[in-house]
Amino acid sequence: MNFIEALKLRSKLFFIFIIITIGLLFVGIMGAINLSSMKKNLDSLYFGSLVPVIELNTILLSYHGNLANSLYMAKNMQISPDEAQSQIKLSINRIEKEWKNYEAHFKRDGEMPYVAYTAAEIKATNQYFISVLKALENGYEIKDLVIESVEKKIIHIHNVINKLINYEVDVAKYERKNFLIGYDSILFKVGTILIMVIFGVMIVSFYVFKSIQSDQSALEIATKKLKIVNKKLENASYTDSLTGLHNRRYFNLVYDRELKRAKRNHSYITFMMLDIDYFKQYNDMYGHIEGDAALKCVAKVFKDILKRPSDFVFRLGGEEFGVLFTETPESNSAVIARNICDAIKAREVKHEGSKIGKYLTISIGVACCVADEALNEEILLTKADDMLYKTKESGRDGYTITTNISTATPHTAEQTSA
Ligand code: GH3
Ligand code: MG
Ligand code: MG
Repeated sequence: MNFIEALKLRSKLFFIFIIITIGLLFVGIMGAINLSSMKKNLDSLYFGSLVPVIELNTILLSYHGNLANSLYMAKNMQISPDEAQSQIKLSINRIEKEWKNYEAHFKRDGEMPYVAYTAAEIKATNQYFISVLKALENGYEIKDLVIESVEKKIIHIHNVINKLINYEVDVAKYERKNFLIGYDSILFKVGTILIMVIFGVMIVSFYVFKSIQSDQSALEIATKKLKIVNKKLENASYTDSLTGLHNRRYFNLVYDRELKRAKRNHSYITFMMLDIDYFKQYNDMYGHIEGDAALKCVAKVFKDILKRPSDFVFRLGGEEFGVLFTETPESNSAVIARNICDAIKAREVKHEGSKIGKYLTISIGVACCVADEALNEEILLTKADDMLYKTKESGRDGYTITTNISTATPHTAEQTSA
């Protein structure tokens, strides 16, 4: 069924439609052919046997009922001789007409000699009655009519015609039997073809629908794969390739969203701006590759400390980072900032070029407040930036936090430990 699999969805449905149409057409043609043969059988039964039997019976009745009867009645003075004459004329005409009709029907070869014989007998019997008629016209007395000779004629013609009727009835029985056999065979043929067509359509439909189903599953798998690839692409587009942290692009997206959420919930929002101390000197001393390694190390510290799903860490550019989280009051935010500073220093990344110690350190500016409608999205960033500047001013390796946008308290390492 590779052929079906190769077809497209619309073509597949069209294929089923064509198969059904061809099948129905085939059944229709077979039905029509068989119906016409049935009609032929019916015609032959009706016009070949039944109608002729009726005509022969009419002839018989005319002999018995009209011809013979009118002569008896005239002899018994029940009707006048004139009336008898006109009855005889009418009956002879009717008999001749019915016989002509009878002869016009299809006749089998075996039937022909007897038909000819009957025709001769009818002619002779009619001749007899015509001669009686003529005699009556010429003044023959009806009472002198020998009824036995009339009876003899009638019995004879009755026997002759009856034989023909029996023959026709036998033929009718034979035709009926043939008709019933034909009918059964047509029923069987059309039924068989119909079953075959239905079966064929079912098989084709089964394969077509199976193929459609497999196409659909393939499509679903492809869609799933595409979604995964898209997700990966999206993640890649939001991830910083060096550190694996979120990039500035993602920051723009998340910052706006989290700020709005915090405003809705009137919850705390904290933004930290982080900058490695004397990193220019670090690069100068150890080279750019080592500098990159130091950036990765710092990023690892961030990831270790900021583990909650609601914590976001971004590399905003160069050796500058941003941290965003919500629902954390000032005291806790300060602890987190402190932990970051301590943890980075605790990694003991050698930094000979630093003017404040032997190891790599970081400075942080923290802006923390309860978000309300008045909170401007720029101000939080600016404040965090200002606080970072203050930390740098105050000697680096520490943090400065503000909750009141207008005031800020520096907490450098020396100051905190002091
Ligand atoms: P400060 O303590 O005042 O911050 O001094 P600083 O030397 O760190 O000054 P600044 O923050 O301006 O330093 C920026 C330096 O960071 C410049 C560049 O050498 C370094 N840098 C920026 N991006 C990268 C990077 O992707 N890789 C490496 N290795 N170094 C970078
Ligand atoms: Mg910098
Ligand atoms: Mg720096």
